Amino acid sequence: MSVANGTPYDEGNIFARILRGEIPAKRIFENEHALAFHDINPQAPVHVLVIPKGAYVSMADFSANAPDALVIGFWRAVGEVARQLGLEEGGYRILANAGTDSHQEVPHLHIHIFAGRPLGPMLAR
Ligand code: AMP
Repeated sequence: MSVANGTPYDEGNIFARILRGEIPAKRIFENEHALAFHDINPQAPVHVLVIPKGAYVSMADFSANAPDALVIGFWRAVGEVARQLGLEEGGYRILANAGTDSHQEVPHLHIHIFAGRPLGPMLAR
């Protein structure tokens, strides 16, 4: 079982439920490794989440425990989603929260993709 900081993966988390098709999401990309969908509370004109198809709490968990093919396939999917959304010209930001200090809310690894306006400094000062 995947764990991060001693916390086991919660099969009931909201992204696990989206992956299982139990609740809807505005899906924009899917392959064997990843699913991408619009964030329900967008923080930029484009705010998309990309999640791996597997039970991984965070980047720490995923990088330590996921099979190589999934790690490669997932990161290729992140780039592919940005390409398909036409974000390369204007630019975009990717971000992943992990653990308490980052304010990670959903305990399934997800990469945020933000774009569509000048995004300003990387962190609030
Ligand atoms: P984080 O703080 O990095 O864990 O981000 C969690 C993100 O998931 C937030 O940006 C939420 O708006 C988003 N979110 C929560 N529930 C849903 C949902 N059902 N569909 C799409 N995005 C969601």
